[in-house]
Amino acid sequence: MAIHIEIDDPSLVVLVGAAGAGKSTFAARHFAADEILSSDRFRAIVSGDEANQAATRAAFALLHRRLATRLAAGRLAVVDATSVRHAARQALLALADAARVPTVAVVLDLPAATVLARNAARPARTVDMAVVRRQLAAVRTALDGPLPPLHGEGFGQVVVLRDPLEVDGVTIRRRPAGAQPG
Ligand code: ATP
Ligand code: MG
Repeated sequence: MAIHIEIDDPSLVVLVGAAGAGKSTFAARHFAADEILSSDRFRAIVSGDEANQAATRAAFALLHRRLATRLAAGRLAVVDATSVRHAARQALLALADAARVPTVAVVLDLPAATVLARNAARPARTVDMAVVRRQLAAVRTALDGPLPPLHGEGFGQVVVLRDPLEVDGVTIRRRPAGAQPG
């Protein structure tokens, strides 16, 4: 199924998904390198190791600062982090709000078996399976029920991709600020 996403430019794009769901792959396919703020990249910047979980706090402090700067400059930004927790998304939404920039959440809600298999088969680094399972459960919690909690958090748009084919078929069009919709 072909899914077409229209995003405002500038805007804040928040990818949501467990480790191995394909966030970085999706970001690289659809966005320029300078637009992508990756938590792994900031872990590497502050500690020299993109997998260093002890660097998480410092990495996010820096990511949030860079994000605020980018949004204030009127540039589109994509946050490539798991963002499976409500609090993590709230912090990002608050920064977009302060810059009066629209927001879109793109959730990679792929089958657990696909995500776990991709994580296990990764060439560079694999994330502990128990951690991935917790992240998958957090995504379920955010999306379950007739009124999914994530839809009520304040994102201007929430796009949920549930199938690998759906993810691969995504096209994105940017709507420059000031352009009429449609
Ligand atoms: P992390 O949160 O740990 O950074 P991630 O969500 O960024 O994970 P990726 O690194 O993009 O995940 O992808 C994980 C693995 O799955 C990689 O080996 C990648 O090649 C594979 N993968 C990602 N997207 C696809 C896809 N659309 N089709 C096939 N394989 C994919
Ligand atoms: Mg990644």
